[in-house]
Amino acid sequence: MLKSRLAAGLVPYVPGEQPKGGKVIKLNTNENPYPPSPKAIAAAKDYDFSRLRLYPDPTAVLLRETVASTEGVKTENVFVGNGSDEVLSLAFAAFFDSSSSPVLFPDVTYSFYKVFCSLYGIAYDEVAVSDDFTVRISDYLDREISGIALANPNAPTALSLKRDAFVALAEAYPDKVIIIDEAYVDFSSQKSLVPLTKKYKNILVVKTFSKSRSLAGGRIGYAIGDVGLIDTLRSVKDCFNSYTVDSLSASIARASMLDEAYFAECVEKIKSVRAYAAFELVSLGFRVTDSDANFLFAAHEKKSGRELQSALRERGIIVRRFDSPRIADYLRITVGTREETETLVSALREILARA
Ligand code: PMP
Repeated sequence: MLKSRLAAGLVPYVPGEQPKGGKVIKLNTNENPYPPSPKAIAAAKDYDFSRLRLYPDPTAVLLRETVASTEGVKTENVFVGNGSDEVLSLAFAAFFDSSSSPVLFPDVTYSFYKVFCSLYGIAYDEVAVSDDFTVRISDYLDREISGIALANPNAPTALSLKRDAFVALAEAYPDKVIIIDEAYVDFSSQKSLVPLTKKYKNILVVKTFSKSRSLAGGRIGYAIGDVGLIDTLRSVKDCFNSYTVDSLSASIARASMLDEAYFAECVEKIKSVRAYAAFELVSLGFRVTDSDANFLFAAHEKKSGRELQSALRERGIIVRRFDSPRIADYLRITVGTREETETLVSALREILARA
């Protein structure tokens, strides 16, 4: 067999569709509908392309300095990587053991966590969320574990846990790492939990430039934590690829992070379209979770998720759906521009009227 045992046993993550051409309204991968900051675009234009001859700085120190000053931490507390997927993958390898004690995460969450576990041979336990998709922290306490990974806000449910929940976990398991995946936190009514990393040496907060900073294609993610965790992440990265962040993306990401005003404006626009979209979906008979993210998680009282998804597809609107039993009828709909969202709402109105 032309495969290692490792490769033969993998069940890879399936990313959302990236259509190659044609005019579609793309609401399936939680990208930002607005372009990156004009300052980020200017940084790309000003980039000295002769620098591509050289390897980038393996420690990406300039980018880490910018992230550190924005996040209110020291540079030594910042790790950067090629998208937060890579940062999360390295973190699973760095902090979770392939012992018999499992890593805990919810049964309804970012499906990449299971994939990392299968890649590294880490045991895991998918803890059932309640029927309203709430994560019950009591289910995570008093257990033998290897660690915990929680997306906050969670995906695809769009719901957040409060700060106290993470304090309880960090205090209950001082020698286990608690990963908080804050890919969507900038759209949340709650603040980032980065400040907890100063008190708790076992909390690692992972964030991304892909969503709130409109840089999914630049592939930049980062982790904030105690210097011990960051050093461990770096040593794992240096066993895999020293240069995960390229110099062009690093320059673009820095410029984007320095443009706070543009960032805040885009986030506010998305929150306002989110409120409009949620209101309209509820009036059309959808059950919609109280979204703290840049997407809505919605199921219709009469029509199946599969039917709705394909009827939208026929009208050039792509949304995401996961074929797993508890959530098969839910659509995960990225918040687009106001115009895209109006088109989505009229398409749904027409589809439902024909039923
Ligand atoms: N975490 C969550 C919860 C996500 O939904 C995503 C996006 N698919 C990521 C992390 C990864 O984002 P990126 O690799 O683009 O930073």
